[in-house]
Amino acid sequence: MEKRTRVRFAPSPTGPLHMGGVRTALYNYLYAKKHGGDFLIRIEDTDSRRFVPGAEKYIIDSLKWCGIIPDEGVDENGNVVSVPSPKHPHAPYRQSERKGIYRKYAEQLVETGHAYYAFDTEEDLDRMRKECESRGETFIYNWQNRASLVNSLTLPPSEVAKRLQDGHEWTVRFKCPENRTIRMHDLIRGDIEVNSSIVDDKVLWKASDGLPTYHLANIVDDHLMDITEVIRGEEWLPSLPLHYMLYEAFGWKEVQPRFAHLSLLLKPSGKGKLSKRDGDKLGFPVFPLKWIGEDGTVTRSYREDGYYPEAFVNMLALLGWNPGTEQEIFTMDELINAFSLDRVVKSGARFNPEKAKWFNEQYLRKQSTSDLVAQFREVAGENLKGFSDGYVGKVCELVRERVHFVNELWGQSSFFFEAPAEYDPASVAKFWNDATDKSVVPALAEFICTVEPFTKEELEKRIPEWVASHSAPDDRKALGRNMNTLRLFIVGASNGPSIADIIILIGKDEFLKRVGNAVKILK
Ligand code: GLU
Repeated sequence: MEKRTRVRFAPSPTGPLHMGGVRTALYNYLYAKKHGGDFLIRIEDTDSRRFVPGAEKYIIDSLKWCGIIPDEGVDENGNVVSVPSPKHPHAPYRQSERKGIYRKYAEQLVETGHAYYAFDTEEDLDRMRKECESRGETFIYNWQNRASLVNSLTLPPSEVAKRLQDGHEWTVRFKCPENRTIRMHDLIRGDIEVNSSIVDDKVLWKASDGLPTYHLANIVDDHLMDITEVIRGEEWLPSLPLHYMLYEAFGWKEVQPRFAHLSLLLKPSGKGKLSKRDGDKLGFPVFPLKWIGEDGTVTRSYREDGYYPEAFVNMLALLGWNPGTEQEIFTMDELINAFSLDRVVKSGARFNPEKAKWFNEQYLRKQSTSDLVAQFREVAGENLKGFSDGYVGKVCELVRERVHFVNELWGQSSFFFEAPAEYDPASVAKFWNDATDKSVVPALAEFICTVEPFTKEELEKRIPEWVASHSAPDDRKALGRNMNTLRLFIVGASNGPSIADIIILIGKDEFLKRVGNAVKILK
């Protein structure tokens, strides 16, 4: 029988999740759903020195905002599950709460000869590292030197037993075989081979805090949680030979998960990895949600910048994966349907902040008018008070194509809700200095209010006729100039949708009032 697909996102709560991490979670989620399987969250918090308060909640909140909902590991209230239940049979899902599980696995490896106890102190190791550095070499603890170091391979058993009892610092290290070819397979990169001689005897367990290291806990948990595919960042590829050897040493080779390592996200320049600091440095968000650092700095984020989570997810999905078609806009369900690991790129994916905005713009265009009105009200607050949904909706329709974000709507439409408080000096100088125009424009405004029917089509037909009959025959710029002056009077600047649209929406009274005001102020 085919095994049920089970994948996991296994973040370490060492800080806010960067968009690369969200992408890893997303690809896991899409893969699980595509294959009708489960998506789990597991918190890998065995390195207490790197623990950051609030990071776990941040990670879970971020996934929730994105619509990446775990099947297992986190309950409906967003809490990491500690007590097993039919829905969460592998609880606890925080490694720090699974402490009791790992030691026996470390010991099993010592008993079967795949690992050993090492008694070198931090100071010993530091000294050896420095000695090596002074000779221009790098210290690696492995087959070359383990026979001359202080460990259970070199000490008599009685001494080992004594040291394990008497509070000595000790660790369990993997006994990496010498000169074996490790043959691995990656679902994205294909076959990979590494000679085991270059792999070091990694620490699997530390007596100092009674905790496993990442490598041991990760392998044991993936096994116990029946994980079928491990989809994670490329930074873990160097650990893959060790992980293969660990599965073999435990006798789990036949049931070990398959692996896929995702390439890095690159800076917009394409040079180097997109880092957590790039957002603030280069002026775009790299974090899904706002994060307030220990020093009080607030990072820029997709949510606070005004992105729709659907647009963010859509953009992320295509950052390193392509559907093999021209389609760019995908709902989550469409992504699930289309996703496959063999279309994930091997090379780094360059992040394009302009394209990110483009995605948001596409989603903004797709909003229904009533949704857009509600969103606009949320960001514009008091400014829209007293205006009906119908009116705000018409404004949204006129300006929605001019913005990327809902929070840009006000800047493009404030003149529909309030008369301009000032007039752009450059436009004034350009359009309000011709003596003839000064008498013609107010008359044009009066004329406009007499046009029947008062529709866009009729205005666009009658205004040019009127201007032509009120200007010199060779003055071909009169229409443009007069329209720009009117725009200046009602908008305060030279931007905005068509004049006819604005006049019809604000109404004749307001229109005439603004013209009168402007003429008075600019005289
Ligand atoms: N805890 C690791 C991380 O934060 C997970 C690596 C893995 O998925 O195996 O990246």
